[in-house]
Amino acid sequence: MIYKRSSELFKEAQKVIPGGVNSPVRAFKAVGGDPIFIKKAEGAYLFDEDGNKLIEYINSWGPMILGHAHKPVVDAVVERAKQGTSFGTPTGLETKIAELAVKMVPNIDKIRMVNSGTEACMSAVRLARGFTGKEKIIKFAGCYHGHSDSFLIQAGSGAMTFGMPNSPGVTRGTAKDTLLAKYNDLENVKHLVEANKGEIACIILEPVAGNMGCIPPVEGFLEGLRKICDETGILLIFDEVMTGFRLAAGGVQERMGVKADILCFGKVIGGGLPVGAFAARNEIMDYLAPVGPVYQAGTLSGNPLAMAAGYTMLKELHDNPNIFESIDKKTEYLHKGLDKVLKENHVPHSINRIGSMISVHFGEDAVTDFESSAKSASNGMFNKFFHGMLQNGIYLAPSAFETWFISEALTYDDLDKTIEAAGIAAKEL
Ligand code: PMP
Repeated sequence: MIYKRSSELFKEAQKVIPGGVNSPVRAFKAVGGDPIFIKKAEGAYLFDEDGNKLIEYINSWGPMILGHAHKPVVDAVVERAKQGTSFGTPTGLETKIAELAVKMVPNIDKIRMVNSGTEACMSAVRLARGFTGKEKIIKFAGCYHGHSDSFLIQAGSGAMTFGMPNSPGVTRGTAKDTLLAKYNDLENVKHLVEANKGEIACIILEPVAGNMGCIPPVEGFLEGLRKICDETGILLIFDEVMTGFRLAAGGVQERMGVKADILCFGKVIGGGLPVGAFAARNEIMDYLAPVGPVYQAGTLSGNPLAMAAGYTMLKELHDNPNIFESIDKKTEYLHKGLDKVLKENHVPHSINRIGSMISVHFGEDAVTDFESSAKSASNGMFNKFFHGMLQNGIYLAPSAFETWFISEALTYDDLDKTIEAAGIAAKEL
C-alpha cells in the first residue's frame, strides 16, 4: 500500500504542530515511518488520504466500541448541534446520562462529567486527598492515568513508548507524593503501605492494565488491594477509562466482582467525543464543590454534543448487553487465529486478552507487569510486525505498549483478513 499523501501532510503538520501531532503516540516515532492521515472512518474501517481502506484496531484508543460513524450516535450529535453547541448552564441531558451511568455501574450514587480521562483521574485523586486528608498516592509502574503531573511517574502508554515515563516539568515536590508499586505484586503494595502508615490517600490503578499492552490482574490482586484499603482507610480508585462500559456494562467492578471507592471513566462514555467522568458513593461525591469543599470545574463539562453522543452510546450498550458477549467472542477468535499463524511461523509470542482487549507480545516470557512488557517490546519485533500488518491493510496502534481494541463493527471476514495478514507479516519477522 502507498502512503504518499500522508507523508506530505505530515511534513506540513510538523511546521506548525510539535512533532506534527496533537498526541505523541500518533507520530509513529516508536515504530518508525510517517503517520497515516485519515480522511474518514466507517464501521471497522479507516479511509486514509491516499485512498487506502484499512481494517483498524485503534478505535480512537478505545471509544469506538460500536465502530466508526455509528449512525445513532452521529444522528444524535447532529440533531443536538442544531440546538446550540454549548451553554455553560445545566441541561436535562446531563441528568439523563448520569442516571443511566449510575444504573449501569455498580457501587456509585453520583457521577461528575469532565472532558478527558486525564481530568477524570486528576480530579478523582484530588477528591480522595480532600476526603481522607492524606497526601500520598500509590500508582503502579506502567499504568497510565493521563498526563497530569502526579501520574507521570513511571507512566505507561506514550510516556513509556517514548522512554520518558518520568517527564521533565513535574516538580520534585509533586513526584515525592506519588509512591510507585509493581503491578500484580501485593507484597510490594503492603510494604509501601506499611512504610507510609497514615499518609496515603488512595491507591489508583487500571484494574485491567491496558497501557503496557493488555495485562489482566492476577488472581487475588484486586481482592488483595480491596482488603488493604479496607484495613487502612485508603481509598481504592479504579481507573476504568479503558475498561469502563467495555469489559461489561458495569466495567471491571461487574466483571471481576471487586468494588472500588472511586471510578474514573473516559473513552466509551463519550461515544467518540471528548468526555471523561468520575463517580463514587454519596459520602465521597458530596465532598465535591458546590456541595463540599473539594474544587473541580469545567467550561465545557457536560457539553450537550458530548452528552448526546455518550448517552446514545451507553443506551445502546445498556439495551443490548449481548454486545459484550459478541465482541468477547470476536476477540477470542482473533486470539486463536493469531496464535495459530505465529506458531506456524515459529515466532515466539505471548498473547494477553480479556474481553475485547488484546495485545500480542513478542518473546517467550509471560507479560504480567511493566518490566516484562518492556522486555518483550525491546527486541523490535513488534515494530516489524506493525509495518508488515500496515502493508497488508491492517492498522494497529503504533506501539508495543498499547492494547488492541475490538469493535462490534468488525466482521469475522475482517478478522480472517487480519489473521491472514499476520501470517504474512510473521514470515518477515
Ligand atoms: N486512564 C487510562 C487508563 C487511559 O488509558 C487514558 C488514555 N489512554 C487516560 C487515563 C487518559 O485519558 P485522556 O487521554 O482522555 O486524557
